[in-house]
Amino acid sequence: MTAGHTPMMRQYLAVKAEYPDMLVFYRMGDFYELFYDDAQTASRLLGITLTARGQSNGAPIPMAGVPFHSAEGYLAKLVGRGLSVAICEQIGDPATSKGPVERKVVRVITPGTMNEAGLIPEKAQAWCAALEAEGDRVAMAWCDVASGELYWAEALGAESPGAAGWQDLLTQIQPAEILLSETSALRSQLGMSACMRPPWEFDAARGTELLKSRLGVISLAAYELDGATLALRAVSALIGYAEKSQGRALTHLQPPQKFRADDTLVIDAVARRTLELVSPLFTDHPQQATLLSVMDRCVTASGSRKLRQWITTPLRNNAPIQQRQEAVRWLDQGQSSSSLTLELAEQFSSVSDIGRIAGRISLRNIRPRECLALKQSLAALGRVHERLEKAQAIQEAPVLMQSLQASLALSNELRACHVLLDQAIDEQCSLQIRDGGVIRQGYDAELDDYRSLQNDSGEFLLTMEARERERTGIPNLKVGFNAVHGYFIEITAGQLAKTPDDYQRRQTLKNAERFITPELKAFEEKALSAQDQALAREKFLFDALLVQLEAFVPQLQQAAEAFAQLDTLVALASFIHQDRWVLPTLSDEASIHIVDGRHPMLALQMPDFTPNDTALNSRDRMQLITGPNMGGKSTYMRQVALITILARLGSPVPAREAIIGEIDRIFTRIGAADDLAGGRSTFMVEMTEAALILHQATPKSLVLMDEIGRGTSTSDGLALAWAIAQHLASHNRSLSLFATHYFELTKLADDAPGEGIRNVHVGAIEHEHRLVFLHKIQEGPASRSFGIQVAKLAGLPESVMALAQAQQAHFAQITEAERKL
Ligand code: ADP
Repeated sequence: MTAGHTPMMRQYLAVKAEYPDMLVFYRMGDFYELFYDDAQTASRLLGITLTARGQSNGAPIPMAGVPFHSAEGYLAKLVGRGLSVAICEQIGDPATSKGPVERKVVRVITPGTMNEAGLIPEKAQAWCAALEAEGDRVAMAWCDVASGELYWAEALGAESPGAAGWQDLLTQIQPAEILLSETSALRSQLGMSACMRPPWEFDAARGTELLKSRLGVISLAAYELDGATLALRAVSALIGYAEKSQGRALTHLQPPQKFRADDTLVIDAVARRTLELVSPLFTDHPQQATLLSVMDRCVTASGSRKLRQWITTPLRNNAPIQQRQEAVRWLDQGQSSSSLTLELAEQFSSVSDIGRIAGRISLRNIRPRECLALKQSLAALGRVHERLEKAQAIQEAPVLMQSLQASLALSNELRACHVLLDQAIDEQCSLQIRDGGVIRQGYDAELDDYRSLQNDSGEFLLTMEARERERTGIPNLKVGFNAVHGYFIEITAGQLAKTPDDYQRRQTLKNAERFITPELKAFEEKALSAQDQALAREKFLFDALLVQLEAFVPQLQQAAEAFAQLDTLVALASFIHQDRWVLPTLSDEASIHIVDGRHPMLALQMPDFTPNDTALNSRDRMQLITGPNMGGKSTYMRQVALITILARLGSPVPAREAIIGEIDRIFTRIGAADDLAGGRSTFMVEMTEAALILHQATPKSLVLMDEIGRGTSTSDGLALAWAIAQHLASHNRSLSLFATHYFELTKLADDAPGEGIRNVHVGAIEHEHRLVFLHKIQEGPASRSFGIQVAKLAGLPESVMALAQAQQAHFAQITEAERKL
């Protein structure tokens, strides 16, 4: 098929055949070139010029290219679009090779395995997940290549009611890439695109071997993975794929952690979206506050990532939350001495992303300046540890703080790492090792020799210049160096007659000629080769340094994890003294009691936000909330869910007092969202979500339902809303907030006594013919419906308002007449 092509294109096509579903960046000199369809795709997505290259097989070849030194920005764009890129480098020597230089794909950049600074988002992790199923059991393994974190879970969804299924887990982790076997039955249920891999890659024995060798252990029992065949199959595919993408072993892989679905408060995809935990509901308002964005007072990106993890994985058990609370309380130390958090935060700003730097040491894609940053970070960690010790001398630290402190202490190894970096890396090191100037003077005698040869050149040139001036009698003769033409002796046009015979012409300028002599030529060769040798030596030394640094990676990872937690805890503590939030009491019962609760995002922006109380427990399970539109119903409901989530991650909450119990899941059915792309009307979306809740909610679940039954006729909607509310209260027995515009539904509380249903309403009063919202949750049903008054606020024409009011009276009469019949 490739017979008519040039040798180089044949080489290209062979590479491309191995990577048919990704773009191939084919290195040619200083450029990465793309050909054929790849060129067209890249030109369209990157806005680079589409050209053609010669002829091959009788036709011009579409081509587009990017300079290799600025490839990163282009790669980030492509990967951001979900594309993968194979980087094909020249590995042969162009000078000696016959035919095209030997080339090889050295790295594959995919959304779930990229880890380079500049490609990977700073404040979020890029997870790659592999799923494997057998019968009704599903296992999942997921890792973050940048940090080497590895998790696994098995028998998802089968463990207990209320626990997370694999879909919930995917929603929680939001993997950038999902691997499935080509024969997997999960493909049709996945609902998103996956990278299909050959079935043999999902092999438990291979998974076991890969893990053992990467972790340097002889048994996996300590990780509970012995005999966990299904999970090991997922691990096999995951590590195999990640290592292939890096072109090397993941030696920085961290011990696998088992994810226990039962341990977390499950928040499904719908609830996550509507509660705006980490991304805003409407993508056209990307600046809209999210729970993460208002809570993120972390100083470093690693802290922000940890906070994101905590927000997306609130906990079910009280004990670990209590530990975080104690740490937050200790860090806060009462308002008078909050200087602890301020002083710590000041030190945090000198700490770089230690975990990712450690990963890059192992993956060999670290930049010299990151080594320097690591050195500074280690020094800053030492100061952080010192400050914590000082605080501990005054007040004993709780368990979690003590363990973080232990991980942050500069062990002898980390001290040795600091010393090594200090000796090896120049404080003014350049960006890339290929530019030289990275290794510190005095670190290596051979390098210093090459460098002094280069540095001596200045003196040599001066001496030679003085001597030649005297010999030729030309006072303005110059000896110099130019990067393109090399060393030269320059004589101005007026003096050319005095040029000695042994000068050979090198270059002609406008008003001068440049020459070279055999002596200068010999010096040039020596100096240039010293420069090459210095660069080669630096590269060698840097590679050797990375081998030495690799020994410190596990300790660096441990310190990085502890530091990220500390940054997050300090950020959380700030809400106590800055915003007067409180640490809630945790209870063993499924209950929510809040006094003067506020909405975390709105309250921080609105100083006059009206606080509200909440009491939900096994006796008072459901609040039926009525009142006018815009009255504050959905704000109130979200506020209760958000406070619950904050409480279950160990954070202070915006309230005067709060007691929050064990909650297994949070469900929401809020707002009207058409799923037109999925072919479902508003009503269908609404009913599907309601069905899911009625099937899955338990007495430990928190359920928010807003305006159910909207998308159909009034009588149908009311009937459905009634039945759903009653089922929730009497059957699911969940803690529920049920907001409705069906005034008639308020009778449910009396109709179903003993089911724990209470009527509450958002207050509103009419003042001088205008509706004033009080935003206050009050006992009892709303006294009336305010729909027409609210519509007036929206600016409907007076005539329409008058007609609506007349019709309202008319309908009321009809209903009254029907009732009498
Ligand atoms: P509903 O769900 O009843 O239609 P919303 O909860 O959407 O009403 O609230 C409408 C607006 O009222 C919100 O955007 C907010 O600006 C304001 N609001 C709601 N609750 C409060 C409150 N507790 N204090 C102050 N303003 C509030």
